[in-house]
Amino acid sequence: MEENMTSLIMIFGATGDLAKRKLFPSLYRLYEGKRLNKFAVIGVARNAQPNETFQQAVKESVLAALGNKNDLDEFVSHFYYQAHDAADSSSYADLKKFADEIDEHYNLEGNRIFYLAMAPQFFGPIALHLKSDGLTDVKGYKRLIIEKPFGHDLSSAKELNQQIRTAFSEEEIYRIDHYLGKEMVRNIEVIRFANAIFEPLWNNQFISNIQITSSETLGVEERGRYYESSGALRDMLQNHMLQMVALLAMEPPIKLSTDEIRSEKVRVFRSLRMIEGEQVNDYFVRGQYGEGSINGEQVPKYRDEPMVDKESNTETFVAGKIMIDNFRWAGVPFYIRTGKRMAAKSTKIVIQFKDIPINLYYQTEKLNPNLLVIHVQPEEGITLYLNAKKAGGNMDAEEVKLTFANTGANAMNTPEGYEKLLYDCMRGDATNFTHWDEVAYSWAFVDKISEVWQKTKADFPNYASGSMGPKAADDLLEKDGFFWWPVTDLDVEICQ
Ligand code: NAP
Repeated sequence: MEENMTSLIMIFGATGDLAKRKLFPSLYRLYEGKRLNKFAVIGVARNAQPNETFQQAVKESVLAALGNKNDLDEFVSHFYYQAHDAADSSSYADLKKFADEIDEHYNLEGNRIFYLAMAPQFFGPIALHLKSDGLTDVKGYKRLIIEKPFGHDLSSAKELNQQIRTAFSEEEIYRIDHYLGKEMVRNIEVIRFANAIFEPLWNNQFISNIQITSSETLGVEERGRYYESSGALRDMLQNHMLQMVALLAMEPPIKLSTDEIRSEKVRVFRSLRMIEGEQVNDYFVRGQYGEGSINGEQVPKYRDEPMVDKESNTETFVAGKIMIDNFRWAGVPFYIRTGKRMAAKSTKIVIQFKDIPINLYYQTEKLNPNLLVIHVQPEEGITLYLNAKKAGGNMDAEEVKLTFANTGANAMNTPEGYEKLLYDCMRGDATNFTHWDEVAYSWAFVDKISEVWQKTKADFPNYASGSMGPKAADDLLEKDGFFWWPVTDLDVEICQ
């Protein structure tokens, strides 16, 4: 992998929320950590404004995210602004001229990263123009970074992929799934493949089920228009949840290269049991939040949010049972649930091991199963639940927790996902980005579910804001003899 940290970064949508809240602070942290050699940024959006106004906005976004920094003026001096309408074919030529000038001025060796921080309908047309107007005609590397949503079903994703592939090869396309930038999601692989005690147990002989919860307390906020056409299935399951499933379920790669890891993940996607037709409602549960209370505050139902249809059939919650039909995982359910306006903000993975054959500790009514909990956010860490002797005379067993709290140890150093992903892209490391094959398989899986849900009107709202979702999501596990481990009880204690 080359480590060429010299680049011209062109951000399309540079006055938007993503650029301000995530990209500028992340770039600053790379700069501060001396991980950018020579660089310049061209911000692109429609509104005309001088460079100074743009630089001031970059400065403010870094100040808001990271506080005052001595070298901020020097940092923002690398930022330039170009007013440009992505839909206007005639202005790409000016953009190319400007990019070539900046490249030459900073001696950026023709390396270019195009970050499309814009609405997805622009991805295809921009990529086509970048090629036809010569912006990708460079002597260094050229890379494209895009965010979800990558299409809204398999056929639109294919169409989009064809468009961007005219300008960029698969190796040059970095499809961000920001969950893959999260420290503990990256850690799944290390926990599994660097510990002799887990990998031998990591299969259907010893694991009874795996639960992945990603819950938010926020509602749909101002994103009603986007969310109405997406819903939790497309917004969370197709990408982040299935990516976590793949990392948990994949076989050990023969080495830690991008291609090897991706091909193992793709094999998991290929083994997903397709759930279709009448089976969908046996395996998947949809929900939509009603009114309720979050942190003591009364909040409205989804259908009363701005830009949301009063009769909306869009799900804000999804729970499901995913089966991976291969030798390792046959018979082990991977339960996933994700939703908005839930009781807690939490992303956690619980690996529940099988019960031991008999309980010798008859005074202990029921031994808890061993659990390995991976805390993804907001806390970061690992907890292993074991049974050990209760202090005192009797041979009773009680639950003990072995905890590693990453937030305690490295709170100040935990970099944001975007910083790591930008750094990876500059280094040419695509491991933590999604390959087209992963996108295609996951859409094929999700399309079968949405086909059924689109046809039938759900009885919404069916869960109160501030709860953990509809009762049917609990029933989904109960009928298999399991229950959701409550995410708040599993919180990792943060060492001070
Ligand atoms: P946003 O706040 O609406 O910003 C959109 C940006 O695009 C603005 O800078 C806007 O500036 C520019 N723009 C719009 N039309 C344009 C055109 N025709 N030509 C050139 N520039 C144009 O959106 P966002 O929240 O930053 O999201 C951007 C993308 O990232 C979306 O695909 C979103 O799904 C994804 N995303 C965002 C977040 C987040 O945290 N915000 C997280 C994950 C993914 P002008 O109007 O001045 O042109």
